[in-house]
Amino acid sequence: MAEKGAHLTGTTYIRPSIFEIIAQESLASTLEPAFKKIFSILVSFNLERYGHILQWTDEGYLIFNVLLQRYYLKRYSASFSETFYGLKRVTVVNSTLKEKLTYKQQILSLILIVTFPYLKNKLAQLSTRYKFQEADGYISRGRRQKFFRKCVVKGHSILFITYETLVLYNYVLYISEKSMYPSPLLRPLSVTLTYADPQSTLTIAELLRKIKYNSFTFGDGWNIFQRIVTGSLELGAFFLQFLSWWSQENYDMDIMSLPAPPPPKVPNVAQQYKGICPLCCKPHRIHTVLMVSGYVFCYQCILSEIRMNKRCPVTHYPAKEDDLIRLYIE
Ligand SMILES: [Zn+2]
Repeated sequence: MAEKGAHLTGTTYIRPSIFEIIAQESLASTLEPAFKKIFSILVSFNLERYGHILQWTDEGYLIFNVLLQRYYLKRYSASFSETFYGLKRVTVVNSTLKEKLTYKQQILSLILIVTFPYLKNKLAQLSTRYKFQEADGYISRGRRQKFFRKCVVKGHSILFITYETLVLYNYVLYISEKSMYPSPLLRPLSVTLTYADPQSTLTIAELLRKIKYNSFTFGDGWNIFQRIVTGSLELGAFFLQFLSWWSQENYDMDIMSLPAPPPPKVPNVAQQYKGICPLCCKPHRIHTVLMVSGYVFCYQCILSEIRMNKRCPVTHYPAKEDDLIRLYIE
């Protein structure tokens, strides 16, 4: 690292580990589902009135993400998740580092951080919708529409595979110290990540002293307010990470350890027909169960009943011939 550090100016470049890079990316990707969950919970309080805005969830997240990332980029020169893992963005000029991002780099960073996941998500949604419609036997009108649909479905999978391969390739280059860019989205901006300097924050002792000597300014108040907002967001993010880790860790175990639910209680009517056919009230001839209700009849009795009334004679649940199953219990 020393020979690498010799020609670096402005800031010392310490390469963040690949684990921090991947961790911040995974945090960034959990933000969107978390926002959507909270959004849908808020809307569900008054579904009749606000239900229609659920279709704009993606756009709602886009606006939230723009505001959040703009704030963090301006203040910490990093995205929200990068700040959370103590990283910041620095410029690479002729393979040397400069501390500050240019205005253009800040704006381009914001556009890439925000629009890339949005467009990726939208394309995936569209592709899934077309696939489902095709499976349902939807016939597209006109050759042009058919071509467009094909392009979306095929294009999405090609783009997805290409991007994932590119990400992996970048990781390999980054780990082997052949590249300074941990992500394919940072390379075109000539921006890389390094560790952020520790933040100087107002301590409680300083705060009390300022209040005592009446030197508490509006700026300090604003500073504290920002710390509270970002602090609670970061705390929320930590819980989010914890929960997603927890659900992953316990996913397999949960399925295995789920207790088997108790069998449903036997209704009194069923007791009444124990060992006999509810239709002819005689011992069964060719045991046949009606799937929708669970009652067992003689095959001949139930077949004519279903053909005539199309329902279970005991529970009156609608039924058809396909719902009959032969039981081999003799
Ligand atoms: Zn019978």
